Amino acid sequence: MIGPGGLAVPHKYQPEAPAARVLPSGLAARWSRSPAGRQASNEGSGVKLLVIEDEQRLAKYLRQGLEEAGHAVELAHDGVDGLHLAIEGDHDLIVLDRMLPGINGIALLKAFREHKQTPVLMLTAQSDVEDRVSGLQAGADDYLLKP
Ligand code: CA
Repeated sequence: MIGPGGLAVPHKYQPEAPAARVLPSGLAARWSRSPAGRQASNEGSGVKLLVIEDEQRLAKYLRQGLEEAGHAVELAHDGVDGLHLAIEGDHDLIVLDRMLPGINGIALLKAFREHKQTPVLMLTAQSDVEDRVSGLQAGADDYLLKP
């Protein structure tokens, strides 16, 4: 016997959770990829990034690595500066920490998304799966695990 509609669709699994988006994308790999294998046609061929992170040591670490990979890096150490620079600048990619003085990362991201669609990577601690999901729901394109 086949029921009405002929098809019973179990709804035990809802694929609406952005699990697929939690997977590392090309964006995540892009920031750390060395341009050495690629012939640079001009000096400004790297990606222009804005790193918004109040933890000075981590911010410098990120900047150093990104600059060594040939990218131009601007730093902001609080949410207010970060949001201003993100809106006013023309970055290719923004790396955003969640916990920031001034405006937190999620609020910053929501405000920023009303202005621009620049790709945003959320900086996330290894264990914070819920944080990753909320960041993606707030408009982040991907996340980056904190070293
Ligand atoms: Ca922080």
